[in-house]
Amino acid sequence: MIDILPIRTQRTTASRLTDLDPANLEFGKVYSDHMFAVDYHNGEWQEAQIVPYGDMAVSPANSALHYGQSIFEGMKAYHQNDGGVALFRPLDNWARLNASADRMCMPNISEELLMQGLSELIRIDSAWVPTSEGSSLYIRPFMFATDGFIGVRPSESYRFMIFTCPVGLYYNKPLRVRFEQKYVRSAEGGAGYAKAAGNYGGAMYPTKLAQKEGYNQLIWTDATEHQYVEESGTMNAIFVIDGRVVTPALSTSILDGVTRRSVLQLARDMGIPVEERKVSSREIMEALAAGKLEEAFGAGTAATIAPIATIGYEGNDYDLPKVGPNAFSKRVGAALDAIRSGEGADVHNWMVRL
Ligand code: PMP
Repeated sequence: MIDILPIRTQRTTASRLTDLDPANLEFGKVYSDHMFAVDYHNGEWQEAQIVPYGDMAVSPANSALHYGQSIFEGMKAYHQNDGGVALFRPLDNWARLNASADRMCMPNISEELLMQGLSELIRIDSAWVPTSEGSSLYIRPFMFATDGFIGVRPSESYRFMIFTCPVGLYYNKPLRVRFEQKYVRSAEGGAGYAKAAGNYGGAMYPTKLAQKEGYNQLIWTDATEHQYVEESGTMNAIFVIDGRVVTPALSTSILDGVTRRSVLQLARDMGIPVEERKVSSREIMEALAAGKLEEAFGAGTAATIAPIATIGYEGNDYDLPKVGPNAFSKRVGAALDAIRSGEGADVHNWMVRL
């Protein structure tokens, strides 16, 4: 176990909390007062700091800007009914952060560094944790290369940072999505399983094309046959077909979502069969035509559960059946909400109190 150095803290003298309108929390627009930062050089993480949120100076030659040596995580802290604050499965995000770091030749973060940084940052900005239903504090840990060197090789220095932002409900309306069978997000053997910055930059153009056609998101398919479902936008794709929960099996091209993992566990707890396997666009469309596709939704930290209402396939749009209050996606969403607010029994010990 590595003890982290004490966190040097400089508090803001001009809190922006009074400008916050808790009734209108838009995702990713307003940042809490402070941010956590720690630099890596000479093979070690240096003294950690918490400073007022703001711009910073970096070398214009760093490999994050030029070659995408940059990774991130997304997780949430929830106001608890008894007034405390708790994180949802933070160690899963920690493990994934290090898996991303390995893939991008970046140093690992110890559990202590992440957890102490998170605890201290959220303690200082605890007044920013929103309390209304469906709201939470979104947490963005990230790491990027900082060498002022333009050669193509892994940087020797890095910065790891965390900032947070209060967020309300993410998607309110059921989604219109379409299968993407030309462009790909990632390929087997690529870095799709990592939360590497470039995966997201590369996904923007095909997503923009789909949005121009009136869709909210894409359902990505595999890079070889353009047939098998990968993910839905920046969420994992989950289907309910004929009473079974079906989702693409993990691979090097799919992000191992914490929400996906939680949904599958809750499905098993409810006694619903779960299948992690290849799912083709054809299977989905045939199930829909046969009345066997009961539900389709995206699962991710930002939205939790984003129901899909319409799927575009080979130029036509197909509506899914309307989901009733007893639908699996509703029940699993409610179960997750209950665990996160501290109202429901947390039998898997997912919540970590700060
Ligand atoms: N897939 C991609 C590509 C994502 O960016 C995310 C968001 N992290 C997810 C799936 C969902 O993962 P999680 O449930 O851990 O947020």
